[in-house]
Amino acid sequence: MRLTLRNIVSFFVARLLIITGFVNRTNQRARKGNYILSIYFHNPNQKLFIRCVKWLQKKGYSFIDVETLKRVVKGEIPFPKGAVIITVDDGWGNNKNNIVSVANQYQIPVAIFIATQPVEEGIPYWWSYIKNARQNEISCCSVEELKKINNEERVSIVAMLQKQLQPLPREALTVEEVQEIAKSPYVTIGSHTVSHPILTKCSDEKALSEILESKNKIEGWIHKTVDAFAFPNGSFSQREIQFLQKNNYRLSFSTEPIYLTEARLKGHYTIPRFEVLENVSFAENICRMSGVWFQRRFIKSK
Ligand SMILES: [Zn+2]
Repeated sequence: MRLTLRNIVSFFVARLLIITGFVNRTNQRARKGNYILSIYFHNPNQKLFIRCVKWLQKKGYSFIDVETLKRVVKGEIPFPKGAVIITVDDGWGNNKNNIVSVANQYQIPVAIFIATQPVEEGIPYWWSYIKNARQNEISCCSVEELKKINNEERVSIVAMLQKQLQPLPREALTVEEVQEIAKSPYVTIGSHTVSHPILTKCSDEKALSEILESKNKIEGWIHKTVDAFAFPNGSFSQREIQFLQKNNYRLSFSTEPIYLTEARLKGHYTIPRFEVLENVSFAENICRMSGVWFQRRFIKSK
């Protein structure tokens, strides 16, 4: 845990939620089949990921994969009781050791959603240029501000910063690593666009190409069908859902932090998820995984 006032206060709130039984009651409702826990990570260290897996196992959750979720959507199997689905966004290079090796060891399924451009070209994720520029006292907007502007404008700001900065190291998996991890029976590879734009800030042509080209690219790499998607930043509109439907995607994940109920799964292009954070207390992450954190909204997320 990074020792900040926010994290320390959050730790005590989380401990209180655990001690007073909120988390246990959530687990009981999940075991009755009221909902599936839908959880996502980005770039956790191995210790955190193992800790989360062990906690979910100890609480009796069964780990389901994307394929199972698709079968539930089709009505081939009933809505599962006490289930959890684990997804991972972006395609960080560390995922191979910190997530996939753990998934193989503990025999639990994970779905990894990959932005193909950082994988193929070795360039960092676009927000790393912004963070690096700010660290080097080059004046620019914040990452959050850039998420709100038109995509072309954002791209030109990032390109300008890129010229001013020293080359930044690779952050994403390599193509060979994607091919290697895709061979694991526990790993599903999904798409997370090409360049990780905010899709709702893109033109029709750009949004469509981001959705379609990333699918084609990954399928070419791993020789498997890619039909699951995660919206970058959780941002989407009806337009993006239509593009996914028309281009043979079967499921997509948002970042809306609500429980995945049977009713909610019917709209299978907006599957909600709870985010696990990398620098907060484990007590807070227990509350996050079980959804209590978002349900109660004691503390504003991130
Ligand atoms: Zn992402």
